[in-house]
Amino acid sequence: MAEMLFDRVALIGIGLIGSSLARVIRRDNPATRIIACARRAETLDVVRRLNLADETTDDPTRAARGADLVVVATPLSAYAAIAAAIAPALADGAILTDVGSVKETAIRDLLSAVRPGVHLVPGHPVAGTEHSGPENGFAEMFRDRWCILTPLPDGAPEPVAKITALWRMAEMRVVTMPAEHHDRVLAMTSHLPHLIAYTIVGTATALGDDLKSEVIAFSAGGFRDFTRIAASDPVMWRDIFIKNREAVLDVLQRFSEDLTALQRAIRRGEAETLEDWFIRTRAIRRSVIEAKQA
Ligand code: NAP
Repeated sequence: MAEMLFDRVALIGIGLIGSSLARVIRRDNPATRIIACARRAETLDVVRRLNLADETTDDPTRAARGADLVVVATPLSAYAAIAAAIAPALADGAILTDVGSVKETAIRDLLSAVRPGVHLVPGHPVAGTEHSGPENGFAEMFRDRWCILTPLPDGAPEPVAKITALWRMAEMRVVTMPAEHHDRVLAMTSHLPHLIAYTIVGTATALGDDLKSEVIAFSAGGFRDFTRIAASDPVMWRDIFIKNREAVLDVLQRFSEDLTALQRAIRRGEAETLEDWFIRTRAIRRSVIEAKQA
C-alpha cells in the first residue's frame, strides 16, 4: 500500500481528469477522504454512483474547507471565480494545485486564492482522451505519461515534493519547468495539433453533401484520426486557445511558413524536398514510440 499523502482532498471539478485522480486516490490511499465538487446534479449523481467521493457538493467554498489538498480540475475559464470562492476556506498549510493545460494564466487566476501559509503548486498531467465526464475516467490513464509541474520560483519545496508524490502514485513521470516554457512546449505538441484537427474536420464538414458522405465513408485514409482529436471537449479547447494565445499564434506562424514551403514543393514537383521532409517526420514517429508515448 502506498504511503498516505493527504487526509482530505477536495476535487473542484470531477470530470475526466478529476475522476481519474479520484480513482487513483481510492486505489492507493483508500483512507483519504475525497470531497467532489461539480456544478450539475447529474455529474454529482454519477460520482456517488461510482463511489468516487465521500462527500459531494456544488459549492467550491464548502468543498475546500478543511482540505489539506485542493485540486482544481475544471475548464480554465472557471479558475478565477473558483479562486475567489475557495480563498476564505483554504486551511493554513493547505496545498492548492490544478491540472489545467495552460499554466501562466492558471497561476495568475489561482494566485488570488493564495495567502501566506497556503501553497500553490500548479500542475499539468499530460494524459487524457477525447472523452469528458466522471464516467469516462480511469486510474491507468496517467501511467507512464508525463506530469509537468510549474512551481512558483519563491515557493517552498515540501509542497512540490508532495504533489510530485501524488502524480508518481498515479504512475506518472514528473518534471518541473517554468510556466512560460510549459505553455510554449504544449502549444507545439498539443494545442497546434488540435487546432489543425479542428480545421481539417471543419473544412470537410463545409463540403457539399455528396462529398461529405464520401469523406466519412473513406475516412480510414487519414481523416478518421483527425476526427478523434477534433471530438475533444469544445469548452476545454476554447479555453486553451484563449488562454495560450501568444504561444499558439507563434507556433501557428511557423506552421504556416512550413505549409507554404510544402505547397511550393508540390506545385514545382520537387519530389526530393517532399521525400526528405517525410523521412525526417517518420524518424520523429520512431522516437515517440521509443519514448513509450505512442
Ligand atoms: P471535464 O471532463 O469536462 O470535467 C470538467 C469538470 O469541471 C466537471 O466536473 C464540471 O462540472 C466542472 N466545471 C465545468 N465548468 C465549471 C465551472 N464554470 N465552475 C465549476 N465547475 C465547472 O474536463 P476534463 O477533461 O477533466 O478537464 C479538466 C481540466 O483538465 C481542464 O482545465 C483541462 O485543460 C485539463 N486537462 C484535460 C485533459 C484532457 O485530455 N481532457 C488533459 C490534461 C489536462 P459539471 O459536470 O457539473 O459541469
